[in-house]
Amino acid sequence: MSTQHVQRMSRLLAKTLREDPADAETLSHRLLVRAGYVRRSSAGVWTWLPLGKRVLENVSRIVREEMDAIGAQEVLLPALLPREPYEVSGRWSEYGDLLFRLKDRKGADYLLGPTHEEIFTLLVKDQCTSYKDLPVMLYQIQTKYRDEARPRSGVLRGREFQMKDSYSFDVSDEGLAHSYALHRAAYQRIFERLGLDHRIVSAVSGAMGGSASEEFLAPARAGEDTFADCPSCDYAANTEAVTFALTPVEAEHGPLEEIPTPDTPTIETLAAHLGVPASATLKNLLVKVDGEIVAVGVPGDREVDLGKLGEHLAPAVVELVTAEDFADRPDLVRGYVGPQGLEKVRYLADPRVAPGTSWVTGANKPDTHARNVVCGRDFEVDRYLDVVVVEPGDPCPACGSGLALDRAIEIGHIFQLGRKYADAFGLDVLGREGKPVRVTMGSYGIGVSRVVAALAEQTADERGLCWPASAAPADVHVVAAGKAVPLALAESAATALAEAGHRVLLDDRPGLSPGVKLTDAELIGVPWILVAGRRSADGVVELQHRATGTREELPLAEALTRVV
Ligand code: ATP
Ligand code: MG
Ligand code: MG
Ligand code: MG
Repeated sequence: MSTQHVQRMSRLLAKTLREDPADAETLSHRLLVRAGYVRRSSAGVWTWLPLGKRVLENVSRIVREEMDAIGAQEVLLPALLPREPYEVSGRWSEYGDLLFRLKDRKGADYLLGPTHEEIFTLLVKDQCTSYKDLPVMLYQIQTKYRDEARPRSGVLRGREFQMKDSYSFDVSDEGLAHSYALHRAAYQRIFERLGLDHRIVSAVSGAMGGSASEEFLAPARAGEDTFADCPSCDYAANTEAVTFALTPVEAEHGPLEEIPTPDTPTIETLAAHLGVPASATLKNLLVKVDGEIVAVGVPGDREVDLGKLGEHLAPAVVELVTAEDFADRPDLVRGYVGPQGLEKVRYLADPRVAPGTSWVTGANKPDTHARNVVCGRDFEVDRYLDVVVVEPGDPCPACGSGLALDRAIEIGHIFQLGRKYADAFGLDVLGREGKPVRVTMGSYGIGVSRVVAALAEQTADERGLCWPASAAPADVHVVAAGKAVPLALAESAATALAEAGHRVLLDDRPGLSPGVKLTDAELIGVPWILVAGRRSADGVVELQHRATGTREELPLAEALTRVV
């Protein structure tokens, strides 16, 4: 092992704070700020200080190694992107307020990339002309921009954040399945190496267009996702997918289609649009067009999750049916509103809805509705119209045992896109038979900066951060608990550890009590803490293992061999 650097705390750009930042809602947010890893620049935009940057680099390195290992090639595309390709894919408008848009001096439209399917498709179109050029897998670790509605929780949900995004290009469905499987396995290795407890859940079922998609979730209280977990078999799914698993779709009708409706109106704007008084009776509602019920929405606190329904249905007459209309049928529509708006809704059968009627439903995915939901096909009439609610104890679709519901952080997402972008951009290569073949794609993301927060969430304790060795900003934190002899011993310990190949943090700050230094060391959360204190004259140090809290007094030479 090569000699490592000793980072002196006396020179380190980071102040630990005794108090939690006022706006911090989650454990990782509080601790990463207090321990001097990150500083807020503006809402959802963060500066990474030296310790934070090291953790971010460790995560990036592991991601990079595992992506390289499956044969993916690293590139770096711009974050500043022209409007045109996103116009072609439809996402310039579909993204709504999530997109950071800007103009150059000539008035041309640009955006800051939220994800790069369009640009990678164009890159491959430019570079690959024959089936011999494929398959190809490309990735980048790059800054992404999304103007998130609720940029809270520190780096868990940033408006500027680091993502590893990769894209696979194949000529056949089997090829795509293989590229997808490679990514899935690489993601498992990445999260295992990071020591991150994670579950793979089906994200969107075949009902949403036939593409396979899975999310990697890190169970944590601060998580914004809910997932159903079967205690008896290995079934796990986010609440959206479990819904469709419970309500199989038959082939003779068109596929369900998602309509992004990002500009969720308030009760006031919806009421104004519909020309009805805005009042509390707007709770639980059905929308009728020309007398026929076409949509259901359950507003949250002061929000209606009907999106731009009125516009989609224009110029039909939209009639609002309020809860009062169902005063005698309290079971008819029931809703549940979670932290991200409408999460789960159970629509019970309305006898006035005929089987075969096509619906728009409120979706259990924020800012989205599902179009072409067919009553009697997707939902059994006389039972639930939309079994979107998953409650603890609901039967597991795989084995029938009672499901548990847990909170988790989405740390990765893998997706078999199919030919959606290849169709939009005409991405063909010359096939084996000399005819053009349409390329099929996958896209795969890991929230590199979010993973740092997820690790903090899962491992921290009441004393502070507690990094797994693979992510930690150093291997060992040497504390000089005293001047003169203890400081000299700490210095020689730090040098010896660095020469043995360990990354060392040395608390050589003058004028601080041993108690303060130890509290800081525990807050910073490096795996080993080596204290040179009272017994320094005898060459004895205290070695603390941060995660287990075990402490031992040992001669320095022996302590050095314990640090792994
Ligand atoms: P979320 O549901 O949390 O908003 P997403 O589904 O919109 O995430 P994807 O488009 O799937 O995110 O992006 C791939 C990965 O990027 C996510 O799995 C997540 O780890 C990360 N990510 C997405 N949005 C953010 C954000 N605002 N801040 C930090 N990481 C993010
Ligand atoms: Mg999102
Ligand atoms: Mg998501
Ligand atoms: Mg996702």
